[in-house]
Amino acid sequence: MIHALRGTRDILPGEVERWQHVERVARALCERYGYVEVRTPIIEREELFVKGTGAATDIVHKEMYSFTDKGGDRVTLRPEATPSMVRAYVEHTLEQTLAAAKIYAMGPMFRYERPQKGRYRQFHQLDVEVFGLNDPAIDAEVIDVAWTLIEELGIRHADLVINSVGCRECRPVFMKALVEALGDDVSKLCSDCQRRATINPLRIYDCKVPADQPIIDRLPHAIDYLCEACRTHFAGVQAQLDAWNIPWRISHRLVRGLDYYTRTTFEILGATASDGGDEGETLGAQNALLGGGRYDGLVKDLGGPDRPGIGFAAGMERLVLALPHDVVAAVKPSAVVVAIGEDARADGLRLLRELRRAGCIAHMEVEARSLRAQMKRADRVQARFTLIIGGDELAKGEVTVRNMATGEQTAVARKAVVAHVRQQLA
Ligand code: AMP
Repeated sequence: MIHALRGTRDILPGEVERWQHVERVARALCERYGYVEVRTPIIEREELFVKGTGAATDIVHKEMYSFTDKGGDRVTLRPEATPSMVRAYVEHTLEQTLAAAKIYAMGPMFRYERPQKGRYRQFHQLDVEVFGLNDPAIDAEVIDVAWTLIEELGIRHADLVINSVGCRECRPVFMKALVEALGDDVSKLCSDCQRRATINPLRIYDCKVPADQPIIDRLPHAIDYLCEACRTHFAGVQAQLDAWNIPWRISHRLVRGLDYYTRTTFEILGATASDGGDEGETLGAQNALLGGGRYDGLVKDLGGPDRPGIGFAAGMERLVLALPHDVVAAVKPSAVVVAIGEDARADGLRLLRELRRAGCIAHMEVEARSLRAQMKRADRVQARFTLIIGGDELAKGEVTVRNMATGEQTAVARKAVVAHVRQQLA
């Protein structure tokens, strides 16, 4: 037999209800905040990510599913959504057609990573982006969308961390200080960090290797190198978060791995094993539920007008994992039709369709079986009512309606039975 690829997974009944719940909550929330959905292809030109995500990132460097298609074009299964969203915004001049350039997307992403709990090769993100707005209040709004999402999903132990990595003016000053501070210590760091030191030193802040930590703890903090404008902006974001009572703390290590971030960066971390994680599952080492930030140069870099942008991506696998266990139940049928005999079966099938068209979740064992077997099935699927049609009922033009919780049975006129069930359910 053929198995699913490593790092990919099937989402089956029992779990899929949790996904649907997360999707429903996310969609409703985005729409309430004025974001509209955009669906971009999952396959793009490789160049989009090399330029957008950045050639020096781990994603582009080691993790992309890229290949040459039959026409000779280099194409990539998207590893993240932001470059595609920017491309769509530029390609369709969305700033002219949308009342506000606030968009969201949901769908699969692909990264060739080492799979572990909460980390897959095909995973899904909710992606939220805003273009064309500079005010710190918009940074705070995007963070608010993220925070409220976590709250509305009932995920506890969420920890919002923020930072500012400066702009194209002040970031080089910070980078210079970073490289100087690293100095000879580079040779004492892990081999990954030694590689990062030459191609993308910011990534060193992400390192989790215990032996490297004392060195990393001594490295400079980005916020100490901000220019006046970036400092004011960051203070504005904090003030707005405070005004909305959104709890935050600064993490100097939150520089994020992508090249395009400017100014505000943020993440929301979920519960790890040490937090107890009583309600949902704990996330283990991969505990970032979502992350994002500002990217003021990216739209222009990708050939668009000089417009700022800010957004975040939430890992849907991790939201589903962290969701409290009891938050969603499987859908149960409201009615199961039980028919005994050939004539009853014909009428049962008619009734089944009437119920469904009237909005009820209705089932019937279409392959004729004994009364006992049909009742057992109705019990197993936890139906609210069974609607029994046998010879007697047919002769009298009635249906026996059995309330499965109480065992109470009522004879209802066949003509009135759909209305009766609907009324009982209401
Ligand atoms: P990033 O696009 O790397 O900033 O990631 C944003 C969010 O997507 C993270 O906080 C995770 O929740 C999720 N994520 C990133 N990579 C993976 C992965 N390989 N598997 C599952 N979730 C991921």
